[in-house]
Amino acid sequence: MSEAAELRAFREETRAWLEENCPPGAKGEGQVPTGSSKIKITDPDVTLWLERMAEKGWTVPTWPAEYGGAALSTGEYVVFVEEMRAMGARAPLMGMGTGLIGPTLLEHGTEDQKARHLPPIARGEVHWCQGYSEPSAGSDLASLRTRAEDNGDHFVINGQKIWTSGAQFADWMFALVRTDPDVPKHEGISFVLLTMDQPGVTVKTIRLISGNSPFCETFFDNAIARKEDLVGELNKGWTVGKRLLQHERSGMSQLVGSRPQDPGPSLEDIARRALGEANGRIGDPDWRQRVLEHNMNSLAYRLTQRRTVQESQDGTTPGPATSIFKMYGTELQQDKARLMCDLRGTAGFGWSGDAFDEDALKWTRSWLSTRAASIYSGSNEIQRNIIAKRVLGLPD
Ligand SMILES: Cc1cc2nc3c(=O)[nH]c(=O)nc-3n(C[C@H](O)[C@H](O)[C@H](O)COP(=O)(O)OP(=O)(O)OC[C@H]3O[C@@H](n4cnc5c(N)ncnc54)[C@H](O)[C@@H]3O)c2cc1C
Repeated sequence: MSEAAELRAFREETRAWLEENCPPGAKGEGQVPTGSSKIKITDPDVTLWLERMAEKGWTVPTWPAEYGGAALSTGEYVVFVEEMRAMGARAPLMGMGTGLIGPTLLEHGTEDQKARHLPPIARGEVHWCQGYSEPSAGSDLASLRTRAEDNGDHFVINGQKIWTSGAQFADWMFALVRTDPDVPKHEGISFVLLTMDQPGVTVKTIRLISGNSPFCETFFDNAIARKEDLVGELNKGWTVGKRLLQHERSGMSQLVGSRPQDPGPSLEDIARRALGEANGRIGDPDWRQRVLEHNMNSLAYRLTQRRTVQESQDGTTPGPATSIFKMYGTELQQDKARLMCDLRGTAGFGWSGDAFDEDALKWTRSWLSTRAASIYSGSNEIQRNIIAKRVLGLPD
């Protein structure tokens, strides 16, 4: 059978399987588990979906079967994502396990690390958090000061991380720590894994103006990371840590990982509703132009994503070019959220109260949360620096 015919057959099988196995509660908007036992799943359909997809290897479709994946080829993976989107099916599992540390361990982990950590991630049994940023090490991450001292079969860790998303729900953390303070800063960093439920780790949630606490401060007071959980070589953690960031940016840009299309109304629908129609088109010519421009940019972005995935020989995350997708993708998200709010006029900036419907409140929050997208995973200014240096080869 030719490759194209094989992919057609795979598409038919995938569609049939998804139709039979995706429960109604796993479609459209709703909860996507992150593997945490500390976050309650309220809808039984969500649990069922996770179980069925994990059994099939489709929570991490491109991972090898021995670690809980389905070893899909790049072509099959593209088909899989398209069929998930077409059905409006949500990803069965997401988070830093499947998106960040899993792919990093596949590349840099020992056999023992892969065997211990990857299958529980694929089954959605553990929740991971990211211990990178510190109070004086954000964009300049290599200035981090959290110390890890060699103590025989383990490291003893002291210091502090900040902005640790979801640390209050996490079972494990992957962290960058300083193992040699006497060498140039990039050369004394190691990448370790440690459990969060140990006496030396304290998590304090950071309360935001919204009342939510999506991230935390994490303190280490003689916390322990076992030597078998050192990923990569001692003092070579910067390379591993940078690669993980490429996986993170790649996931955000949907170069990997499957997410359904935004199930809410499109920008165009909202514009038609808000401004009326003239000859079947958005009533206001100025707005027609703005919506069209956004839609064309989104489509070009989607096609470039798709081409990049198809061109990747082994289906893995690209290198520094992920910064282009992270930067442009987050700017597109911000543009859409701003247009959605603008279209609603004064109702577009409702924060609370009966004067605003649920949709208006949702879009205000969405607009605000998209502001964070150009900061996390390395701010967009830092992405521009990476693109200049590592993609375009411009001098420092
Ligand atoms: C929602 C959210 C979730 C996060 N989750 C996590 C997490 O789970 N784990 C974790 O470790 N961290 C997390 N972070 C932290 C995030 O990685 C940092 O906020 C980010 O790297 C920026 O660092 P900073 O906040 O210290 O800002 P700074 O580094 O102080 O930067 C301040 C400003 O200066 C600009 N700037 C700094 N240096 C340069 C330069 N060289 N060139 C041009 N401009 C520059 C930046 O772009 C920014 O606009 C999260 C952040 C957010 C917003």
